[in-house]
Amino acid sequence: MQFHDSMISLVGNTPLVRLHSVTEGIQATVLAKVEYFNPGGSVKDRIALRMIEAAERSGELKPGGTIVEPTSGNTGVGLALVAQRKGYHCIFVCPDKVSMDKINVLRAYGADVVVCPTAVDPEHPDSYYNVSDRLVRETPNAWKPDQYSNPNNPLSHYESTGPELWQQTEGRITHFVAGVGTGGTISGTGRYLKEASEGRVQVIGADPEGSVYSGGSGRPYLVEGVGEDFWPTAYDRDVADEIVAVSDKDSFQMTRRLAREEGLLVGGSCGMAVAAALKVAEPLGPDDVVVVLLPDSGRGYLSKIFSDEWMSSHGFLDEGGAEARVADVL
Ligand code: PMP
Repeated sequence: MQFHDSMISLVGNTPLVRLHSVTEGIQATVLAKVEYFNPGGSVKDRIALRMIEAAERSGELKPGGTIVEPTSGNTGVGLALVAQRKGYHCIFVCPDKVSMDKINVLRAYGADVVVCPTAVDPEHPDSYYNVSDRLVRETPNAWKPDQYSNPNNPLSHYESTGPELWQQTEGRITHFVAGVGTGGTISGTGRYLKEASEGRVQVIGADPEGSVYSGGSGRPYLVEGVGEDFWPTAYDRDVADEIVAVSDKDSFQMTRRLAREEGLLVGGSCGMAVAAALKVAEPLGPDDVVVVLLPDSGRGYLSKIFSDEWMSSHGFLDEGGAEARVADVL
């Protein structure tokens, strides 16, 4: 019989898919690592599994314990998926700006979600930070993974994403491009690829304009899951050779092209990473192999990036372009 013992054994080993249309005029091979094939639908399943198993080994997470993490998205889904199979309870803390759909996804996986007001100071007892700290203190057997400082976040990529890419490309990868959020993906995968290639592979971070990684001060941007206004310890500043800043408009327009032209319904940070990867690939030759990592699916963004109204209300649809004209007629 052919079956998997549980959904957990499906984490990782995601496919590499060649891009054809958005790469027109580019000589290098550009391959996408499609992370929505993970069972929870994102790259974050990898870190969830590794962080939980390491905490079990160290004794920080005890049988029947409770995982408490401030997260509203992909990391929560990954943690909930692994936790339910292993008999742990999850409590996630989200700011009230998070959409009801995202909260309902976490609850569907069996997690409890505590929603905190955004409009209070960080020192206020009801703030996002204070509520999650208090829950950790007051819940028996509570453990907080803290993906921003947990070394098992980059380690999961050093042990899975990096080796997978090296094997899948038979060591021919020349450039690796990934968006930077906590920094776990680029730090772990990048370090592995640098070591395996003896420094030959170039590692490029993609960052929303305004975020600290590309020299910004934390100015707001709309791409979700990437960019920061502080430097997390999960990010290793020695790995990336270059950081490419991408605007919201370029990120979202590329995200829509990926769905329409490549059959890849993916999230906004994927469009951002591909926009950066194409800039990197442009001057390269036919022997170069550029791999770009696509963290999640587009299903969570249907009412934003894939809504013409939302896109045009932010000025992200080009005036007079075919999309804008159709939006006008409708
Ligand atoms: N894209 C999305 C949608 C994410 O949720 C994340 C994780 N925050 C990233 C990209 C960036 O990955 P990392 O945290 O490993 O830098």
